[in-house]
Amino acid sequence: MAEEILRAEHVRTWFPVRKGILKRRQFVKAVDDVSFSIHAGETFGLVGESGCGKSTLGRSIVQIYKPTDGRILFKGKDIARLNSDEQRTFHKECQLIFQDPYASLDPRMTVGEIIMEPMVIHGLYGSHEERESECARLLQDVGLKPDHIRRYPHEFSGGQRQRVSIARTLALKPDFIVCDEPISALDVSIQAQIINLLKEVQERLGIAYLFIAHDISVVDHISDRIGVMYLGHLVEVGGSHEVCREPMHPYTQALLSAVPLPDPVRAKSSRRQILDGELPSPLDPPAGCPFHTRCPRAMEVCRRSMPRMRSYGDRQCACHALDGGTDEA
Ligand code: SF4
Repeated sequence: MAEEILRAEHVRTWFPVRKGILKRRQFVKAVDDVSFSIHAGETFGLVGESGCGKSTLGRSIVQIYKPTDGRILFKGKDIARLNSDEQRTFHKECQLIFQDPYASLDPRMTVGEIIMEPMVIHGLYGSHEERESECARLLQDVGLKPDHIRRYPHEFSGGQRQRVSIARTLALKPDFIVCDEPISALDVSIQAQIINLLKEVQERLGIAYLFIAHDISVVDHISDRIGVMYLGHLVEVGGSHEVCREPMHPYTQALLSAVPLPDPVRAKSSRRQILDGELPSPLDPPAGCPFHTRCPRAMEVCRRSMPRMRSYGDRQCACHALDGGTDEA
């Protein structure tokens, strides 16, 4: 197996808030005790409903948010303890693609200026001409034309803007990219093009992705392994094929059952598992298993005790209803 590029160990990202008449200090537990690893060249898909903490986890990895507890190791080094040179290298090698290509590109800058800005910040290439030529090459790599270099973001469609975002991300030749819902703001007809572009870039350059999305069928398509998140916790991790064909956790089963089937006969005969209620607030999560308020298999023990993540061969799952398994380290 390829070397491990990223490891999250018991990561918590909590946000303090003041609530009630007495303005008591409470915490929004956006990410709560999450552990996983990603290997070089691999795509790890992170899936869950809006508000489950997946984007907060991605942003904690790229240091937009500072984790409250736990460790994130990038190439074996704790990113909270990097010196200034190591920080610089980390921010070059670890990049983020934002969800909204309309908000993430500065409308006052040309596409060339947007793509060359990180090269200037990191002192890449000796001259402006070299940076321009690299910029033109990157535009071609992402399916745009070299003469788009002088255009402004408003002259492009949503899909083209996301291609510009990807070109800017590739300008620093990263080893790892957090793709934070990179297709959810795009038309359905464009989404497949951007997914295929990300796959093609990965095959060519061997970049590892953390691919965040709320649609499990999209995550299944692009990922080697999948982590399913619910209310700040990882509840199931495994190979994407195994997780999506034989889901172990009731929440994963519900997510998959909500995926529309293209065959109307199969769709009619399939038994859909519709989740009742809303995702509980991460400010006041339920005791015991966080999913027990919506789980069709909930038992008495689920209301009292948080299930531990246990290993079942290459899979991990946290559910009291499963037999066997071995405790995670
Ligand atoms: Fe459902 Fe209980 Fe399993 Fe939680 S631990 S997913 S409530 S069966």
